[in-house]
Amino acid sequence: MAISIKINKTTQSRINQCDFENIEFGKIFSDHMFRVDFTDGKWGDPEILPYGPIPMAPSISAIHYGQAIFEGMKAFKSAEGKPLLFRPMDNIKRLNESAVRMGMPEIPEELFMEGLKQLVSLDRDWIPTKEGSALYIRPFMFATDDFVGVRPSNNYSFIIFGCPVNSYYPKPINVLVEEKFVRASDGMAGFAKAAGNYGISMLPTMEAKKKGYDQIIWTDGRSHQHVEESGTTNLFFVVNDTTVWTPALDGNILRGITRDSCIQLLKKRGLTVEERKVSVSEIIEAAKAGTLSDCFGTGTAAIIAKIAGIGYQGQDFMLPDPEKRDVSNWLYATIYGIQTGKLTDDFGWVVSVD
Ligand SMILES: *Cc1c(COP(=O)(O)O)cnc(C)c1O
Repeated sequence: MAISIKINKTTQSRINQCDFENIEFGKIFSDHMFRVDFTDGKWGDPEILPYGPIPMAPSISAIHYGQAIFEGMKAFKSAEGKPLLFRPMDNIKRLNESAVRMGMPEIPEELFMEGLKQLVSLDRDWIPTKEGSALYIRPFMFATDDFVGVRPSNNYSFIIFGCPVNSYYPKPINVLVEEKFVRASDGMAGFAKAAGNYGISMLPTMEAKKKGYDQIIWTDGRSHQHVEESGTTNLFFVVNDTTVWTPALDGNILRGITRDSCIQLLKKRGLTVEERKVSVSEIIEAAKAGTLSDCFGTGTAAIIAKIAGIGYQGQDFMLPDPEKRDVSNWLYATIYGIQTGKLTDDFGWVVSVD
């Protein structure tokens, strides 16, 4: 069944106010947004309208009880000027997994995809083309019942907007292994991109920043002996440029799409990828022995966030010169090349938009 989307175009594009040479991450929004509301047990009429404030009651349940989930993805432009999306179906499926965990309705895949494509098509001039830049896309869903009381909302809004961005972590980062606070533990919602998971990360990250680090590495909630992820990135540890360790999807970490792309590319390149529990002690041992040849986080925003050094129990372990990291440099160039259509996409990851 064809999905028809009502389009209400802006009469005042803001594109001339955007300095595409110097974009600050997450501060500038493209002209339009996609919106569809869920009421009376079903999704209503989808609409594309000018990006702008959304009126809401002070009692909406998303704000009080946290039924709020989101996604993050990017659109690029091919050399011919065609918008390209990277693995959008994976974001759609993951949003619905988050929805189920949070007791929220799933959004039909075709409705999400059609809204996404039409929005990107309409705002295609907002996709920057400078090296490393993209249109970051933020789909999200939240509970809108005008009601105070803890129970699943009956009404929800699903919105997609975009913002042009440059790369997210331009510099290699220093990370601190967190042993007090926990992001997620067994049975919680660590695998969901649920707003609350990020709320609880603010204070621990602020404390690490006060100590001079850029981010924290979360450890498991039971023993603090195994690493999980860092900020909004999944973690990879490379030993002797041949074997790669990455924490397994145990329900406590995000099923990163960049993570999966890296695993597939590394395997294709002939490296051994071990998805398993990764202990802090084996990482520290490898760093001390000089065998930890590369270490990075993966996520849509940065693609690859190189880790320069790891802080653990008062000591800092510096890793090899980030400039000379064979594996992370190759992964970044390969993924970005596929995303922008400059490299052949052997995996069927890229979806082009008319
Ligand atoms: C979004 C996110 C990631 C990365 O996922 P991608 O699909 O690669 O962008 C990793 N960890 C957390 C906690 C995240 O929120």
